[in-house]
Amino acid sequence: MTQVATATRELILANLEAVRGRIREACRRAGRSPEEVELLLVTKTVPPERIRVAVEAGERLIGENKVQEALAKYRELQDLPIEWHFIGHLQTNKVKDVLTFASMVQSVDRIRLVEKLDQHLQRLGRSLDILIQVNTSYEESKFGVAPEETLAFVRQVARYDTLNIKGLMTIGKLSADPEDARRCFRLLRQLRDQIAGEGIPRVRMDILSMGMSGDLEIAVEEGSTMVRVGTAVFGPRPQPDSHYWSERAKAR
Ligand SMILES: *Cc1c(COP(=O)(O)O)cnc(C)c1O
Repeated sequence: MTQVATATRELILANLEAVRGRIREACRRAGRSPEEVELLLVTKTVPPERIRVAVEAGERLIGENKVQEALAKYRELQDLPIEWHFIGHLQTNKVKDVLTFASMVQSVDRIRLVEKLDQHLQRLGRSLDILIQVNTSYEESKFGVAPEETLAFVRQVARYDTLNIKGLMTIGKLSADPEDARRCFRLLRQLRDQIAGEGIPRVRMDILSMGMSGDLEIAVEEGSTMVRVGTAVFGPRPQPDSHYWSERAKAR
């Protein structure tokens, strides 16, 4: 496997320490215990040898948003104790592949996808942990269930006993005003409380996956239990058409 230059390794480790510090500090300010907030490292476009650096430094949760890319990295890093989460838009024709590596799918947002997951899981005789993705920013470009429809959707998904609902996921609004993201996170937390209060059989609402590199403090203040961080640890991502991963795939 390609080696990671010492400077790159040290940068990843320093960034990781900084992010852990930000989470601790946000928890302290919010009067929460740092154990309540897990760190999921988002490694889209990040080559496997750099992911290895972070995992060897103690991280365990890795999130990817493209099935083929994730599958290739999963295969390359099988010796590591990684829990792979799928966090991207999932096409129904990729469901079979996602089930080979993902221990959680955070982006469940439509019943057609639920049906497909259920079909494959039944065939495999197993279940899958999922989060329901909610479009709290109401942006048309974003995936996710509409906030008003979330409770009804959760009830519907709860009927599939191959799927274990563990909570909710959202992407905060990207905006110059941090209060925009706060509104998204607060809404997700309110939905969580409402759904948890319904006591729907088999439905857990323990996980609130929200907060990224730019807004994790706000998410922690609003009750996040899992922040998803990419650039703050691995640096800026290259443009999609020139990024390392596709160059590498082409070279093979
Ligand atoms: C890319 C991505 C992240 C991480 O974003 P950063 O700003 O790089 O921390 C988090 N969640 C999802 C769903 C993503 O696609």
